[in-house]
Amino acid sequence: MSEKRIPLSTGELASLTQQYPTPFHLYDEKGLRENARLLQRAFAWNPGFKEYYAVKAAPNPYLLTLLKAEGFGGDCSSLPEMVLCDKVGITGEDIIFTSNDTPAYEYAKAKELGAIINLDDLSHIAYLEEHVGLPELVCCRYNPGPLKGGNVIIGKPEEAKYGFTREQLFEGYRQLRDKGVKRFGLHTMVASNELEVDYFVETAQLLFDLVGELSAELGITFEFVNLGGGIGIPYRPEEEAVDLLLLGERMRALYERCIVKNGLAPLDIRLECGRMVSGPYGWLVSRVLHKKETYKNYVGLDACMANLMRPAMYGAYHHVTVAGKESAPCDYLCDVTGSLCENNDKFAIDRLLPQVEIGDLVIIHDAGAHGHSMGFNYNAKLRSAELLLRESGEVMQIRRAETMDDHFATLDFGGLKQFSV
Ligand SMILES: *Cc1c(COP(=O)(O)O)cnc(C)c1O
Repeated sequence: MSEKRIPLSTGELASLTQQYPTPFHLYDEKGLRENARLLQRAFAWNPGFKEYYAVKAAPNPYLLTLLKAEGFGGDCSSLPEMVLCDKVGITGEDIIFTSNDTPAYEYAKAKELGAIINLDDLSHIAYLEEHVGLPELVCCRYNPGPLKGGNVIIGKPEEAKYGFTREQLFEGYRQLRDKGVKRFGLHTMVASNELEVDYFVETAQLLFDLVGELSAELGITFEFVNLGGGIGIPYRPEEEAVDLLLLGERMRALYERCIVKNGLAPLDIRLECGRMVSGPYGWLVSRVLHKKETYKNYVGLDACMANLMRPAMYGAYHHVTVAGKESAPCDYLCDVTGSLCENNDKFAIDRLLPQVEIGDLVIIHDAGAHGHSMGFNYNAKLRSAELLLRESGEVMQIRRAETMDDHFATLDFGGLKQFSV
């Protein structure tokens, strides 16, 4: 079981909405930091361990600054994500650039920043060399194909667009070695929102074995393996969080057996988790605007899928509670909707909630990763503010809500004067 609560009382939340109108995203510094420390503790046995927070999960400079203070780097997949890291002092090899279908100017920026470049395809070796030049350190992304089962969000590895095949990896590292690259890493990411410890241990086994084979065949040394992100969180109250300390212990045993015994140590373990790091420590807070009872019951919020797209995008479950009614019986069957002109704009379908009233504050849980950042402007919906609950209890705004001027900023209305039709 995982408890679904927000670290503010109903009264505190209500007064917060006086200052910051709903909807908004709220993050909890204390929860974020404690969780970050737990992850560091789980892998403290590996001196070179580093978590590269997947910036796309919550690209906010204040959150990144907190995570940097806990020793995390940044995993980026676009130029603005790298620039964001650089702006908060996550620099050089504390950035890993794991992109795909990458334009040359993004590789150029990664090289300029001294970021670790993680190549997605064999053909990108020549592309990188031609357009940018090869850096001293290169990592390649492995796609194990049928050797590994996938899961819903990422899909089956052999149908995923990412990474090199096994044969291509041997060819790729050979080319890199022959072209003078000196330092090597190996990466994979085959799951998303996975809750089973075994899954990650098996993935690590796959990479550890491959490091052994590649090193033996090519006479190269690997500095790190990056297991990607994908550690899941218990979106449903009946699910259990991944036991990070157990995961760390299991990895340690495997490392002893596959890496230390085979003379491949030291090998740094790297992760790129986003969801597990911040997901449970963020909430989307909104208010009930309307109730509608037709063929079904609808609870209409002032938030919509522009604020949190996961339920509409992949039918993802997000737990929903009503502030002040946490212990009331859940006997009102309804769909919880937003205002977009799309019928999939629903945060929950056929959900049992307490008797909801117009004006109630509705809390959508586990919105701290892939929440605000997945927002968009379809239907000219504006993205909401982000707030941070500090450890001191103070709440600060870490991103203001979008305004109509922001939305129109890319349009030139003045040009209409010369536009004759
Ligand atoms: C999205 C992504 C991550 C983070 O995934 P989570 O499920 O948030 O842990 C890490 N690495 C890469 C390459 C990704 O695309």
